[in-house]
Amino acid sequence: MGKELLKVEDLCVYYSGGLFKRANPIKAVDGISFSVDKGESVGIVGESGCGKSTTGYAITHLIKPTSGKILFNGDELKSGTRLERLNIAKKLQLIFQNSTSSLNPRFSVGRAIEEPLLVHKMGNKGERRERALELIEAVGLKPDHFDSFPHELSGGQRQRIGIARALSLNPELIVCDEPVSALDVSVQAQILNLMKSLQKKYNLTYIFISHNLPIVQHFCDKVIVMYLGHIVEMADRLEIFKNPIHPYTKALISSIPIPDPKKVSLDEVIEGDVPSPQNPPPGCPFSTRCQMVVPECSEEKPPLKDYGNGHLAACFRV
Ligand code: ADP
Ligand code: MG
Repeated sequence: MGKELLKVEDLCVYYSGGLFKRANPIKAVDGISFSVDKGESVGIVGESGCGKSTTGYAITHLIKPTSGKILFNGDELKSGTRLERLNIAKKLQLIFQNSTSSLNPRFSVGRAIEEPLLVHKMGNKGERRERALELIEAVGLKPDHFDSFPHELSGGQRQRIGIARALSLNPELIVCDEPVSALDVSVQAQILNLMKSLQKKYNLTYIFISHNLPIVQHFCDKVIVMYLGHIVEMADRLEIFKNPIHPYTKALISSIPIPDPKKVSLDEVIEGDVPSPQNPPPGCPFSTRCQMVVPECSEEKPPLKDYGNGHLAACFRV
């Protein structure tokens, strides 16, 4: 750990307003900056629609940012030529929530894992098969699974294949977008343990996107809290769960469902709905739902302030 691997600088991703050309753009991600050190697991949390997946797609170069920079080992990666795209694929990979829809039902497991190698014309037939078998074993499946098809497998097994595919080009950083959200709770733990052991084995760095705070608390070293396309708080795992600063983070944490009848759901903690990213409120993005709101909050966007030891939060009121 320690060496900076990824740096995101003032990243904005706006989607066009659709059919109505004059409609406001959807500000899915609106000026976020953070960095990820080699070997770290950084969690991105927040309610549905806050821009987590969009951030992940931009980092893995699946979508082009509206503005801002994404630096990998200090460089901006280009994606114009096939060689440049291969270079990106060898560095950055994405694991989706639903591996069923990202796997081609007509491809065998072996073919699915070989596919990235084939696309990038890497190795000969024998070498690709060998690599696929090695990865099948690494993700805890049996060599027999090479010839199975996705529909013959359980959800957990399919997610193992999603992971094997992501590993096939030997990437340095993997963005995991809700990697266990579609799985049964008992299977979730197995997949998370597998991801931990693969991280050690292959020296991986993870960006772990999730709306599930207990999982992030268990899995990640650092946590970024997003709200309406903005980062509202960011700190080390222990610090953020013990000492949340931003009213939104506090609400998220107080609504973690643990077996405690006194705990309440997020709807009970925060009133109202998340505003539309097409018409975000002026000033603080959370101002329309915050119990601590004062007029100043609607006038200016609070910057991220350092509260010590890299614990950042964006709030005028704390
Ligand atoms: P999350 O992953 O946190 O749920 P997303 O990044 O998927 O959030 O979405 C952020 C916002 O951008 C949402 O308001 C969503 O509706 C919108 N959005 C996402 N993808 C698109 C798209 N392709 N076109 C237009 N709007 C989109
Ligand atoms: Mg998402």
